[in-house]
Amino acid sequence: MSQKVEDIKPSYPLFREQEYVDLLASKREQFEEVHSQEKIEEVFQWTTTEEYKELNFQRQALTVNPAKACQPLGAVLCSLGFEKTLPYVHGSQGCVAYFRTYFNRHFKEPVACVSDSMTEDAAVFGGQSNMKDGLENAKAMYKPEMIAVSTTCMAEVIGDDLNAFISNSKNEGHIPQEFPTPFAHTPSFVGSHTTGWDNMFEGIARYFTLNYMEDKEVGSNGKLNIVPGFETYLGNYRVIRRMMSDMGVSLSLLSDPSEVLDTPADGQYRMYEGGTTLDEIKDAPNAFNTIFLQPWQSDKSKKYVTNTWHHEVPKLSIPMGLEWTDEFLMKVSEITGQDIPEVLATERGRLVDMMTDSHTWLHGKKYALWGDPDFVMGMSKFLLELGAEPTHILANNANKRWKKAMDAILAESPYGNDCEVHIGKDLWHMRSLVFTNKPDFMIGNSYGKFIQRDTLHKGKEHEVPLIRIGFPIFDRHHLHRQTTLGYEGAMQILTTLVNAVLERLDDDTRGMQTTDYNYDLVR
Ligand code: SF4
Repeated sequence: MSQKVEDIKPSYPLFREQEYVDLLASKREQFEEVHSQEKIEEVFQWTTTEEYKELNFQRQALTVNPAKACQPLGAVLCSLGFEKTLPYVHGSQGCVAYFRTYFNRHFKEPVACVSDSMTEDAAVFGGQSNMKDGLENAKAMYKPEMIAVSTTCMAEVIGDDLNAFISNSKNEGHIPQEFPTPFAHTPSFVGSHTTGWDNMFEGIARYFTLNYMEDKEVGSNGKLNIVPGFETYLGNYRVIRRMMSDMGVSLSLLSDPSEVLDTPADGQYRMYEGGTTLDEIKDAPNAFNTIFLQPWQSDKSKKYVTNTWHHEVPKLSIPMGLEWTDEFLMKVSEITGQDIPEVLATERGRLVDMMTDSHTWLHGKKYALWGDPDFVMGMSKFLLELGAEPTHILANNANKRWKKAMDAILAESPYGNDCEVHIGKDLWHMRSLVFTNKPDFMIGNSYGKFIQRDTLHKGKEHEVPLIRIGFPIFDRHHLHRQTTLGYEGAMQILTTLVNAVLERLDDDTRGMQTTDYNYDLVR
């Protein structure tokens, strides 16, 4: 059982050695009141049936694998997108450990974020003293130029008032009066990580602009604001900057964590790197307009920008796929007066060429997909453009208006006829869906691998392979550097989708002298 230093084995294959097989079996027998293998198999098979699906969809008081995270996690990502900003969560230490490890495992980067470690006494008497000490310590130790404060469930349940606590901390000299401390209440028992991002962005915009609007004039700085929303593909920040640069548009990308989440290994640790400057957010009301790349997830910020900055926020969809990227670029051109340059027209032509090259493989392929509302809508739209058929669409954190809009998009295409849209449902519901109406592939985050495993357990012919696009992706490396927006993003998604089809076809036709009549070199 002991490991040898010259031959250290990871859990696989170590736990397949007889000694461990016996040990684990004995543990189950003696301590886990294990059911017989026949019973386990019987229940497993039942969970794959239509009867079980009906029961599963009646479930109300339990969520299994929810396909969303909680509000402060989104607030942390938003805060990381500002220059020299330390995300600070008023609440429990364990919550912040979860946010950090979630981002660590996705981005493979250290993520700076502090909490003021509220424990039992703070839960009873309130967390004001934690806040005073926490702000003072965080500023002294980590030397940020801004601390952005959000809350966990505990602080929200007891009703801690961030505005009062931060003001009192300043009045008592724990941090200087002028030190920037935007904040957002982010109760996790409502909404999701996307609501938290939206709340934090609105909090930052409010902090720097609400009382400073007298000298502001729409369009006076000659820039366009773009707000990315809860965006975990680093390539998307870069492609937006690149397209705007190609067009000669002067851009303020409001929240950009693409540097701090992708710092080079050159021997120097950077707690802060890149990000939207505080001058940019202060100057943002002077822009021509503000475009929200994930409009369904930005309700509160959109309202603030419309009412306070007096920007006529355009109605656009996430720029995924061909048509919605066209609309995005044409709107940018209309707002800024800059033409769409030849280089982007050429890029578009290449995407159309790729779509034509691959359509025979993608046409009619059925997909189950889940994720955040804007991503799922953009992905579905692009699937329809490719002639692929979304079959099950699930966005746990979407609302009824979104579902109506999603249904309308599906109704416009012959490829959307057989699709069901689910909101407020989780990945255990999705498991029932793929068992009872099998798609060819699933598109979603890493948690889908357990559904793939279960479908394979039922039999190879039931297996539904997972294509990893979304958040979080813990079990593959570097996918978060890819791009999903613009023509470039569409090319990358298309490449992933079509090669998954070809990989699967190879997988199905490798049987020597049985299926290899179709194991071709050229596809
Ligand atoms: S749901 Fe609440 S308790 Fe759980 S990690 Fe989020 S803030 Fe913390």
